[in-house]
Amino acid sequence: MTFSAPPKYRGRLAPSPTGYLHLGHARTFWLAQQRAEQNGGALILRNEDLDSTRFKMEFVDAMLEDLRWFGFEWSEGPDVGGPFAPYNQMERVHFYRAALEKLVAGHFVYPCTCSRKDIQAAIHAPHTENDAEPVYPGTCRQNRKSEIGNRKFAWRFRVPDGETISFRDGNCGEQKFVAGKDFGDFIVWRGDDVPAYQLACVVDDASMQITEVVRGADLLVSTARQILLYRALGLAVPDFFHCALMLDANGERLAKRHDSLSLRELRGQGATPESLRQRHFVGISPK
Ligand SMILES: [Zn+2]
Repeated sequence: MTFSAPPKYRGRLAPSPTGYLHLGHARTFWLAQQRAEQNGGALILRNEDLDSTRFKMEFVDAMLEDLRWFGFEWSEGPDVGGPFAPYNQMERVHFYRAALEKLVAGHFVYPCTCSRKDIQAAIHAPHTENDAEPVYPGTCRQNRKSEIGNRKFAWRFRVPDGETISFRDGNCGEQKFVAGKDFGDFIVWRGDDVPAYQLACVVDDASMQITEVVRGADLLVSTARQILLYRALGLAVPDFFHCALMLDANGERLAKRHDSLSLRELRGQGATPESLRQRHFVGISPK
């Protein structure tokens, strides 16, 4: 009889260098680091730099510097390498393309030629309870690639309408989302030939052998989408731990436009990481 040891905990920080990191990101990342420490595991840094329209080189250096300053420590990442290199998503596009080819071959996706305007026009009752994005009305479901010609198109994943996707979140408990109602067919490859977040994230978390994904609660519904991708690609689904987003004094979500709360700005004002954690991260683990 053989006993196999449970997989060693592997968590990740996956910042996007589209602006300076703010306290809200740091809070979620801090929790991710704590989870990795508590579980005696490793923390991986992945640079999610696919969004080239918003991506600026200066933000990558700033991001690494701000993370180090704040007290984050990772054992694998773009600056230190590791067994699953590269850790910059821009250098991993061949992995995403291979996954897309699998999805195309399995008829999980279809070419969608809709513009944002087309989608808005086709929706009679916008459904935005769980997500800012409206549920895609399925206009292009019957499209075939051979009929598209030279038109620009995105690859869209066909969700199993009516199926309840459920998972147990390590922080938020039991979650259920109904495909076709809470979220619709979603883009896995954009019309400008860039892999979409959902696909890149799934491919990377699987290939980097991440055992638990810690991220903001705004991504709970995305987790349902991603579970469908794991299934379609025949990949093991990791555990999830979603945490509440940090709100500003007006009760609004911290966004990158809140420059006054960027780590850079706070540091410039003389704040120390310890003081910021004491002031803002008290009782961080509960949702
Ligand atoms: Zn379409």
